[in-house]
Order: sequence, then C-alpha cells, then structure tokens
Amino acid sequence: SSGSLLKINSDSGELIQSENWNSEDLDLAFVKPSETEFDTRKNYWTLKNSKGRIYRLYQRNIKYASQDYKLSCATEITSTVLHHQVLGIILLTAIPFLLAVSAGGGYFLAGKLLSPIREITGKTKNISENNLHEQLPLKNKHDEFGQLSMVMNDLLSRLHRSFEQLRRFTSDASHELRTPLTAIRTVGETALKKDLSPERYREIIGSMLEEVNRQTSLIESLLTLTRADAQQIPLHLEVVDICQEVESVAELLSVLAEEKMQHLELDLPGKFMVRVDRSSIRQALINILDNAIKFSPVKTCVNIRVYFEKDVVVDISDEGPGISDTDISRIFDRFYRVDKSRSSTGSGLGLSIAKQAVENCGGRITVGKKEAENSSVHKSVSGGTSFKILLPKA
Ligand code: ADP
Repeated sequence: SSGSLLKINSDSGELIQSENWNSEDLDLAFVKPSETEFDTRKNYWTLKNSKGRIYRLYQRNIKYASQDYKLSCATEITSTVLHHQVLGIILLTAIPFLLAVSAGGGYFLAGKLLSPIREITGKTKNISENNLHEQLPLKNKHDEFGQLSMVMNDLLSRLHRSFEQLRRFTSDASHELRTPLTAIRTVGETALKKDLSPERYREIIGSMLEEVNRQTSLIESLLTLTRADAQQIPLHLEVVDICQEVESVAELLSVLAEEKMQHLELDLPGKFMVRVDRSSIRQALINILDNAIKFSPVKTCVNIRVYFEKDVVVDISDEGPGISDTDISRIFDRFYRVDKSRSSTGSGLGLSIAKQAVENCGGRITVGKKEAENSSVHKSVSGGTSFKILLPKA
C-alpha cells in the first residue's frame, strides 16, 4: 500500500529498501525484539520508534529462482492506535456516564409514572367509614391509573351509599321503636297515677296492647328485611301461575276494599307461569295491594292486570292521591313515608319488603303514575299510582 515501507534482502545483502526504512529505525524490530511486541497469533511486530511513530511489521521468507529472500513490510499505524486509544477513552467514560444517566432517568421516569399510585395509596390509607364520601385523585381518566381511580371511586361511592343507608336505617329503626315505647310507658304511668274505673283501665290497656301489636309487627318486618339482607331466608323457587296468586291475594284483601266501598277490578287473561318463591311474591302483592286500598279514597277502583311484555307484568293501579316525583325516588327506602300523618298506621317498610321480595325472585318493581286510559270509574280523581311487578317468564 502507499503508506507502507518495504525492504527485500537476500543472504548476500539488501536488495531494495524504502527511502525512510532506516530513518524510521525499522530494523530495530528484528534486531532487538525486546523493543517490540510480537503477536504470535498474527505473526507481526508492533514497534514504536524513537520518533514516537508506531509501525506494524511483517516478515516473510520467499524463494525465487532457487534463491532465498526475506521480505519485510512496515505499515504506520500511529493514527489508528491513536484513534483506538481515543475511542477507548470515550467508551470508558461514556458507558458509565450513559449507564448512570439511563439509570437515573429510569428511576425518575418510574417515580413520575408511579406517582399516581403513591397518591392513590396515600389517599386510600386515610379512608375509613367516616370519610367514604372522599374521592381518589383523578388526573387523566383515559390512562390505566385514571381507570383504577375511577373504579375505586365508584366502589367508594357504592360503599358510601350502603353505609349511609345502614346508618339511616339504624337511626330510623331506633326512632320508630323508641317513640311508641315512650308513648306506651307514658300512658301506663299516667293511668297508674290516677284512680280510674275498671272500664277505663281496660280501655287504656287495650290501646296499649294495640300499640304493642303494631310494634310486634314492625319488629317482624324489620327481621324479615334484615334476614333477607343477610340471605338467611331460604328461597323455595317453584313455577307458579301468577294469576292464581294475584286472584288469591285480591280475595284476601277484598274485605278491606269492601269496607271502603272500593271496586277491585281483575284482568287476568289465562295462565302466566313464573319461577318464584310463592310466599315472598304473595307478601309483595299483599303489601302493594294493601297500600292501593289504604291510600285510595272510598268508592274508587283498584285495577289489577296481568300481561306479558318481555316479562310477566303484574300492574296494580289505583285512583288515589298519587306519589309526587320527588317522593317516587325514595318510595322504596326503608321507613320512608310520604306524609307521616296520611299513613300514620304504616311503618314505611311495606314497599321495601315488597321490593326485596320481588328482587330476590329475580324480578323488578317499578312505580309510576296511573296510565290515563285505565282510569275507568272515577274520572274526577287526579293522580293515581301504578306499581308494576316484572317477573321473568318461566
Ligand atoms: P306504609 O307502611 O306506610 O304503607 P310503605 O313502604 O308500604 O309504607 O309505603 C311507603 C309510603 O308510600 C306510604 O307511606 C305512602 O305515603 C306511599 N304510598 C305507597 N303506596 C301508595 C299508593 N298506592 N298511593 C299513594 N301513596 C302510596
């Protein structure tokens, strides 16, 4: 190559030699091997001469026309070695630097990436039954952490609602039980303080027993609800004809309707088989029909209609005062009564029990205004309520 120096010599002496061979002191490689480095694997010498230049030298024996020659070749590699050294230094400093930067960057990124998790964990730790209304931080609802926050917030809201319901239920229950008990005690105490006739005492004891009976039935209703909540009431699901149950419940309550000169109009076209727990569904029908009779004025009509529309529907409609839109949303809440004076005899548990019973049988219960075309007998009555029990067809 152009950058290489060459020397050929025979036993008798040198034949050809590049101009700079001697000035570069290249023979030193062969004369003083200690000054050079010999790579036994690749058969070359590496020599650094007094000028600081580095050469790579090869030597081969060749035979030409039965004469032995020695061919020596030197290539300067100073710049290559220098480049290698620089590259080595660069790599030695850059690799640890890059490693440090990438480790640091990774740590920083991971920290930044996981900071929402840290926030969520910190916030979750502080959530107890007293601050379930608080929500977890939500930065971006489209990423995974946002989704996690949303799911957790949803769970918190549901828990909050359940806790609130439970709290309200407990306080309402204690209130409902305490007030009549206080009344019974007061009636008893005042009666004892006075000297009354036996008839008057009998009257007072009678009214006290009446209140005790009401309380007993209230406690029974509460027990039904809480047992069903805890799923302690075994369901005996069986296929029944709902029309038959409706007919039998209507017959049972017809006495109450007669007392108010109300007309129970039944529309039961044939058989509609549903798979339900018979006593639960009867309880629901009784509670709803009892309300329809109880809250409707005298001489009105209560319609009970069974039909099929995706589900088997039992529609109990009355011509009573109706339920306002604000009350409708809470009507199935435990102890909820629209007007405490209007329904002073009720406990506000009837519809909760009905709802629970229907839902336990896989059905739904809805409430709305009575449909206009059904209003047959007393057109003058405004409002009217329609309760629908929807049950899957068996
Ligand atoms: P209650 O024991 O008071 O009847 P319910 O849970 O059965 O309790 O009913 C809750 C409230 O819903 C009642 O107090 C009443 O105000 C209202 N309500 C229920 N059914 C009717 C109806 N058919 N028409 C008008 N109001 C009704």
